[in-house]
Amino acid sequence: MLRVVIIKPSKYGRTGYVDRFRRGFMPNSTVPYLRSMTPASMEGVAIEVYSVDEYVQTDLRYLDLLRNPDTPTLLALVGVQSHQFQRGLDLAAFARANGVQHCVIGGPHPMTCDTTVLHGRGVSFALAEAELIWPSILRDAIRGELQPVYGQEQRWTEELHPPALIPPSARDLRRYVVPMLGVYPAGGCPFTCNFCSVIKIAGRQIRGQAIETTMESLRRAKAAGVRMVMFTSDNFNKYSDGPALLEQMIAENIRIPFFVQCDTQISRQEELVSLLGRAGCFEMFVGVESFHRQTLLAAHKAQNHPSTYGEIVKLCRRNGIVSHFSNIIGFTEDTAAGILEHLDILRGLHPAVASFYILTTSPGTGQYWI
Ligand code: SF4
Repeated sequence: MLRVVIIKPSKYGRTGYVDRFRRGFMPNSTVPYLRSMTPASMEGVAIEVYSVDEYVQTDLRYLDLLRNPDTPTLLALVGVQSHQFQRGLDLAAFARANGVQHCVIGGPHPMTCDTTVLHGRGVSFALAEAELIWPSILRDAIRGELQPVYGQEQRWTEELHPPALIPPSARDLRRYVVPMLGVYPAGGCPFTCNFCSVIKIAGRQIRGQAIETTMESLRRAKAAGVRMVMFTSDNFNKYSDGPALLEQMIAENIRIPFFVQCDTQISRQEELVSLLGRAGCFEMFVGVESFHRQTLLAAHKAQNHPSTYGEIVKLCRRNGIVSHFSNIIGFTEDTAAGILEHLDILRGLHPAVASFYILTTSPGTGQYWI
């Protein structure tokens, strides 16, 4: 028997009230994906899986899984971003000190930053997509020893063939504001915005999974009581099978409200917006970032033309979709007057929701200083 404990580490461990409240609005996608990709047995050894999104835990009972386990155990710390990396290391150190044999850390931080100094010290690092390396990690854990690093040679697969998702239990779904699930029909982004690490994590080529896989995940989600789906692909409007998927959702009358992210070129995709509306899309998140063309050009976000933003609001309104504009403040070119002008234009366009982010130079992006 191998016990696999999959944990998405939060920033501070069991989350404080504020963080828990915020994160309860956002499901973690990687945890259910990895759980679904883990077979019930391998090489004749049974595998039992536990999955934990630390952001929505309210006690520390899940740490018991890592305390003096009576069966060989693999701790997989997944989806680890730079601000969660220290917590990931703390959990790995805790597990190793308490008798867990195998620990591996994967996600955006190991994929985009140099972790060499930490290699070979009792915790393994996953530098590639799980589709590519998860079976080897499981096999090595069963055989008794993990390699220090996985996926150094190749970061992502040419094609995505994950299994349909196993939705979280009813108990876990209740931890979120609404029972929700992240579904990832396609990965990758063709653009090169220099504040974003997506292309280092998922590549520039859009790779979609089979439509039937997404449909089966949606059917299972609905049967399990999921009331909201977030398509976590970065640019749903660049996914070539997107229209066919939406047609299928309409034909099956799947009726599960969902959220998508699109780039601003959605302003020219009226048919797709109409399909999204009919298939049950309730909200479209669009990274408009700035209303100043020069600022966008400096951020290598040349695909954004502020003159088209108003059309996105209109298209969404016509199709019953909440337009959600994401704005960034703090570009080098920003000035106080420029930000006030940005707000004026934004108010005039009237997107249904506007959210604001202060530019943070994430490790692994073109804007990071090292
Ligand atoms: S910000 Fe959006 S469009 Fe730009 S590279 Fe990242 S995912 Fe692609």
